[in-house]
Amino acid sequence: MAQAYQTIVIGAGSSGLNAARFLKDKTLVLDKKSEIGIPIQCGEGISIHALNRERIDLQTHWIARYITHIKRIMPNGKYIGERQKDPYAVVLNKSDFEKYLADLVKWEIRLNTRVVELKREGRLWVIQTQKGDRLYTKHVIGADGPNSLVARQVFKTKHHLIPAINYSANFEKPIPNDELHMYFGNRIAPSGYGWFFPLSKKSANVGMLIKHKGRVKDYFNHFIETTLKPLFGNFQLAENKSGVLPVDGFAESITKKQAFLVGDAGAFTDPIFGGGINMALLTGRLSAESINADNPKYYQIKINELPFTRQDLRESRKIFYGLDDITLNELGDIFNGRSTSFLNTKDGQKAFQSKPNLVKHQPAIAQFAKTWQSAKPYIW
Ligand SMILES: Cc1cc2nc3c(=O)[nH]c(=O)nc-3n(C[C@H](O)[C@H](O)[C@H](O)COP(=O)(O)OP(=O)(O)OC[C@H]3O[C@@H](n4cnc5c(N)ncnc54)[C@H](O)[C@@H]3O)c2cc1C
Repeated sequence: MAQAYQTIVIGAGSSGLNAARFLKDKTLVLDKKSEIGIPIQCGEGISIHALNRERIDLQTHWIARYITHIKRIMPNGKYIGERQKDPYAVVLNKSDFEKYLADLVKWEIRLNTRVVELKREGRLWVIQTQKGDRLYTKHVIGADGPNSLVARQVFKTKHHLIPAINYSANFEKPIPNDELHMYFGNRIAPSGYGWFFPLSKKSANVGMLIKHKGRVKDYFNHFIETTLKPLFGNFQLAENKSGVLPVDGFAESITKKQAFLVGDAGAFTDPIFGGGINMALLTGRLSAESINADNPKYYQIKINELPFTRQDLRESRKIFYGLDDITLNELGDIFNGRSTSFLNTKDGQKAFQSKPNLVKHQPAIAQFAKTWQSAKPYIW
């Protein structure tokens, strides 16, 4: 017999689970995987601010490391970013984090259930699963990740995706396990960056995101051999947590006939650094609030209220990855371990003006900095 729901959430990742957590009326969550949180396809870094905003209590069992220092490292080794007194980000144990979120959901989460088709029948959505179930619902939340079926079938959209490699790696030497490193430069990661996110005293998520699909593995191997190995000694790659990311700024259309796109399914990632958990949690909750209020427009309104647009993000990506290594090194020189707020000081402005390439790119860098500043609370 056909089953009817107020809302069906497709996808039990961070976005879908956070949506389900807030939904008030009869909801069903479907996911094709057999275990929540598995596989992990993520570097697992997120700001504490984002977790607080979503009213998620920090739990030691899903926090691998607290981070007090984010270093954005330029090709010359100099970096942007100051150590903070208190932790302001964490590296998650994301599979336990998602299991924790799932425990907060009061609705049924049906695993091993792949959705294969969505159709409109009158005022309802009919959801067809691979097992042959036909499920009726008023609302659908597409929380089904970067290759979203909901985006393709309902919104006729396919996101532009780029590959991102991430492995947990065990190192021979102790590592700075309260620091998060991001390595930039055309030699290391053209149009992207390499990262090092600590998981324990000797292990870290190491990864890379670049635009060149065919060459990401080569660049990744080169990065770990020539940048990380000299610092932390011999290493062994352990769990593969690689995947793909939408990087063109969020989807143009995100609501249609009581259907919503959230998280990666709506391309809600940070096109510059690839972060997406923050926006996944946020958009999941906003879609739920929209449904609870029986006001489908609310979701779009809330997204429009963000202090940046999809176009801002796309432009910023172009600007940042258009900078050559000489200009990046000049950024490293002037910040040299300081935070970005140094630029708002007299000394910062003086240092900036002394660098010919920075001066040449000044309008673009200012535009990038403005977007970045406004987008930061939603991205990291
Ligand atoms: C290598 C890598 C590193 C990253 N590092 C970071 C990081 O450090 N910090 C950060 O903030 N972000 C990072 N991201 C991005 C972040 O992981 C994602 O933006 C975020 O997890 C998206 O969550 P989501 O719930 O929208 O999608 P997902 O986590 O992809 O969840 C989608 C769910 O939908 C299910 N599904 C898909 N299709 C169907 C279907 N047809 N039927 C039923 N179920 C379906 C899937 O099984 C899955 O469980 C990284 C991404 C990658 C690839």
